[in-house]
Amino acid sequence: MRLQDKVILITGSGSGIGRSTALLFGREGAKVIVNDLNAAHGKETVQGIEEAGGEAIFIQADVTNPGEVSAMVEQIIVKFGRIDVLFNNAGISGVGLLHEIEPEAWDKVMNVNIRGVFIPSKYVIPHMMEQRSGSIINMSSCIAEVGLARRASYATTKGAVLALTKSMQVDYAPYNIRVNALLPGTIMTPFVEDYLKKSYDDPAEAIAGLKKRQLSEELGRPEDVAQAALFLASDESKFVMGSPLYVDGGVVFG
Ligand code: NAD
Repeated sequence: MRLQDKVILITGSGSGIGRSTALLFGREGAKVIVNDLNAAHGKETVQGIEEAGGEAIFIQADVTNPGEVSAMVEQIIVKFGRIDVLFNNAGISGVGLLHEIEPEAWDKVMNVNIRGVFIPSKYVIPHMMEQRSGSIINMSSCIAEVGLARRASYATTKGAVLALTKSMQVDYAPYNIRVNALLPGTIMTPFVEDYLKKSYDDPAEAIAGLKKRQLSEELGRPEDVAQAALFLASDESKFVMGSPLYVDGGVVFG
């Protein structure tokens, strides 16, 4: 097993990519901490891991809330004694032309997608520094590097996550902590379905348009991103530091 006994926190793992990654990590021998705002969804992920013979617990916490996140990290340390991998996956979408976006909506997407990486990292990193080991995976997006209509606020957050990843890597390399970013393309999850519904009268036509922007003939699946996260979480990627890992069917080259 590629993650035997590693203690791994995945934020936003009640759905989509986070859930798929949690299920895969459970099968690879990790002790998985499933975090989400949505308790029912998070518990379903835990149930899926346990049914496959893996080990997992659910902790409800808002990744933007320092009190809730520090309590979650404390609970993990008391139970497992360490945190080997932090996957900062939780995120929300932001849709609209810039001149139409309400300032509150702008702030919300910045808060969840950027502060929601900062806060869990802030509380997990001291434990990794003490262990002198750790792998942090930050969820960016290929949209950090290519334009997509009506996605300015969201793209801004994912560009920020990429910049943050590189700075984190420089600062924490002396503690043997690796920090890398995942840049998925279009992955069919509830998140994307929500975006398509809000943005297009004809989602099928929109899907055809998205396919045209990539080299692969298929859109991505959550499992595709989970496999890339597995590589970054495992010791197989020990020489991969501060890297953007594209999982996008070739969007950046399309
Ligand atoms: P999803 O909506 O299926 O899952 C996101 C999960 O995060 C949900 O369960 C939600 O409850 C949780 N969450 C939201 N806010 C939270 C908070 N404040 N605290 C804790 N949990 C919170 O979405 P997904 O498509 O699986 O996306 C996961 C990540 O991947 C996001 O960061 C997204 O930006 C990124 N991403 C997705 C795609 C894609 O095409 N699906 C592409 C590139 C990047």
